[in-house]
Amino acid sequence: MKRRDFLESLAIGGLGLLVAPRALWAEDGEGGSALFAVPTNTGITGSVVVLGGGMAGTTLAKYLRLWGGTGVSVTLVEKEATYTSNIMSNKVLTGQLTLPDLVYRYDVLANHYGVSLVRGEVVGIDTGARRLSLADGSSIAWDRLVVAPGLEFDLMPGMSSASQYDTLVPHAWKAGPQTQLLRNQLLALAGGTRTGDVVMTIPKAPYRCPPGPYERACVVADWLRRNSVPGKLIVLDANPDIIVEKANFAAAFAGGSGFTVDYRPGSTVTRIDPDTRTVEYTDATGAHSIAAGVLNPIPPQRAPKLLADAGLYDPAAGERSAPVSVLSYESTRVPGVHVVGDASSTTQPKAGHIGNQQGKTCADAILRALQGKAPDPAPVTNSACFTPITATTATWLSAVYQYSPETGKMAVPSFHNGGTPIAATGPSAGNYEDMLVWFETLMSDTFG
Ligand SMILES: Cc1cc2nc3c(=O)[nH]c(=O)nc-3n(C[C@H](O)[C@H](O)[C@H](O)COP(=O)(O)OP(=O)(O)OC[C@H]3O[C@@H](n4cnc5c(N)ncnc54)[C@H](O)[C@@H]3O)c2cc1C
Repeated sequence: MKRRDFLESLAIGGLGLLVAPRALWAEDGEGGSALFAVPTNTGITGSVVVLGGGMAGTTLAKYLRLWGGTGVSVTLVEKEATYTSNIMSNKVLTGQLTLPDLVYRYDVLANHYGVSLVRGEVVGIDTGARRLSLADGSSIAWDRLVVAPGLEFDLMPGMSSASQYDTLVPHAWKAGPQTQLLRNQLLALAGGTRTGDVVMTIPKAPYRCPPGPYERACVVADWLRRNSVPGKLIVLDANPDIIVEKANFAAAFAGGSGFTVDYRPGSTVTRIDPDTRTVEYTDATGAHSIAAGVLNPIPPQRAPKLLADAGLYDPAAGERSAPVSVLSYESTRVPGVHVVGDASSTTQPKAGHIGNQQGKTCADAILRALQGKAPDPAPVTNSACFTPITATTATWLSAVYQYSPETGKMAVPSFHNGGTPIAATGPSAGNYEDMLVWFETLMSDTFG
């Protein structure tokens, strides 16, 4: 599939991205963008509570109303007033974007689609009583619950508190103040108030956004070179090799885009000292230690503890996210509770684009269930990934997943694209332009 064909396919409905990019929308009489109306005549009735207004939960809440109509009451419980996109947040590190550029609001969801918003942090999920407990002491009852809270981060060995990520060694794997802190630390290197190399660590897969750390390595190394910052970028990868788009990233790391990255695969971090920014690690050649100018440890990630406490996954069994049926995203442990996005365990990548797709698959399955019907027996999802390599170029990767009745999993179908299920292209300025269109389309489909 050619890149432009793919972008067009995103705008055609189904589980694709339903809307065209904002720039392409017809203007309505008041100068705003035309939005699809919530139908009043579907005959579907029901009530759904959604925990978490990120890429998966917001999409799900919107499409429950858009496809289900006014008879489906939807309540979204979200702890933050606005959402800050992780996608594109690596560009904040290089100064090409600021955090406010990545902020999305829930106004359209509430005012146009009629989703009831509850601002609050969920601290307990009582699956027996079917109630959520909130930090302010209130509670919310549910008929059907969808859980979409994203991920939590482990402490790296040697760390004593998660607050050390906020003040000393930001992971910045959730966009927000840590992203700005990491940007400031890089600026300190450029200004000479810090010296040394930049060291980034990558956890063993699966983690959120498989190409994300390699993308960050490229744009930071490109930024260091363009700004003549002394010091190099060292990447300590716990994986035995680059786990995605290997040819593209290996070429970039070796100098193909004008910068180099000191990439050290098979590196297991044994201890970090946040105060001295020292990282100790082992690889096939033995034990090593580096004192970094800037240390960016990307920690191992798991579904929030809240879900484990509710029996949605079992850490004692080695699970780190919630098992679900990918026909409906209903928990295989707790009937009537669905889990979408990064907190669910599937064969699809933990990615915002996939979260959007899972939100739609789950919304469709819930609406069918409210009508006494079984879920779609053959769901299809797609994932597109544009990865900035430099300030002006990006690579592109796409995969389509289809339900396999044999395995019960989402698999890359062999028939897609004439037998080539995954399409990828190397860095180019054209990909970079298309990346901006893709991002705006995805975020408009989710929050617009
Ligand atoms: C640097 C970086 C780059 C990335 N680039 C891409 C990319 O190019 N393409 C791509 O597809 N993906 C990308 N991703 C991955 C993507 O951001 C995530 O996969 C996606 O955000 C997951 O969506 P989610 O809805 O599961 O979780 P989130 O988007 O994290 O949303 C979870 C929401 O739940 C809320 N919440 C959590 N707990 C509670 C609670 N107890 N009570 C109330 N609310 C709660 C949170 O406040 C949040 O709003 C990137 C990630 C990073 C870090």
